[in-house]
Amino acid sequence: MKMRDDMINIDGGLGEGGGQVLRTSLSLSMVTGRPVRIQQIRAGRAKPGLLRQHLAAVRASADLCGAQVEGNRPGSEELTFLPGPVRDGAFKVVIGTAGSTTLVLQTVLPAMLQAPGPCLISVEGGTHNPMSPPVEFLQRSFLPLMAKMGVETELELIRPGFYPAGGGELRLQVRPVEKLTPLVLKARGPLKKRTARCVLADLGEGIAKRELREVRRLLDFREEDQEVVMLEGARSPGNVLQLILESAEVTEVFTAFGELGVPSAQVAKNVCKQARAYLGADAPVGRHLADQLLLPMALAGKGRFRTLKLSRHTTTNMKVIQAFLPVRFRIEELGDGMVDVKMETNGEEV
Ligand code: ATP
Repeated sequence: MKMRDDMINIDGGLGEGGGQVLRTSLSLSMVTGRPVRIQQIRAGRAKPGLLRQHLAAVRASADLCGAQVEGNRPGSEELTFLPGPVRDGAFKVVIGTAGSTTLVLQTVLPAMLQAPGPCLISVEGGTHNPMSPPVEFLQRSFLPLMAKMGVETELELIRPGFYPAGGGELRLQVRPVEKLTPLVLKARGPLKKRTARCVLADLGEGIAKRELREVRRLLDFREEDQEVVMLEGARSPGNVLQLILESAEVTEVFTAFGELGVPSAQVAKNVCKQARAYLGADAPVGRHLADQLLLPMALAGKGRFRTLKLSRHTTTNMKVIQAFLPVRFRIEELGDGMVDVKMETNGEEV
């Protein structure tokens, strides 16, 4: 492979040392056109190196921009990625396990905004994974905020995929956009609607009844605030319980996973605890949304949001973004655990 002197070197063990260091590096290598070498990939994880979900993210990225790649093998701890120009059209990537389809989509989305024309990508794998955004999080929380920034997308759940069998499919359509509108989220505004949504695949409705009853008891939800969704076509059974809180400025989606041996009431308690923490503080942006908004914000060149105490995932992502782009994230503690995240471009406060 021909080396270039504008190569960016990234330590994959940076901060949290997880898969996000790789994914953000891929996104920004495509967006900036600069090659990247990542060493010690996922050094912070019990099983370091590339897993299937990460391999699929690299393949999807390489396909999108015709990149030359070295090191995209299972378990590999070093990857070199030389991007070419981003193209448009249809793409397909199969993860091959229940690995997260949403994380693969989030890797390619920033580059697709710069494609010469519309893109359509299908990703097969897990659609509802603990530790990743479930598809509904992208549909109801993340992508509507992207829409406020001028991004036109359509995300469809074709088939659900749960752990361990996977086999689900998501399809995302993306239109290119010339310039992103900066996002400013200082307050969430009045709560307009709240929904407790129980998703089931190949499982009995009794689970939904028990989970939703517990949500009504814990958070004072009414019968009309709840819905049960039966999904068809899953290869293995699955259950997620979601609380969707729609405020004037932002929608947050909290998720808990049903698991064999975990009582329904416990699943409900898990999700209610997350929603309570969010409602109890006055920040519009929850913990997960905070780390996911950084990259779009950096691409817009400006932006600001208020959130709760930053996760290590978020501070790590800030460092990776700053290695590629002339931006600086500024963090101001506001008291009561609240934090203001602002961005500077080329040293200028925005
Ligand atoms: P690893 O580090 O083991 O490679 P990974 O690549 O699967 O793990 P992480 O680097 O931990 O993933 O990143 C997970 C991403 O998923 C983060 O952006 C996080 O905000 C998001 N996420 C996790 N759980 C949720 C959830 N319940 N709702 C929304 N987003 C979530």
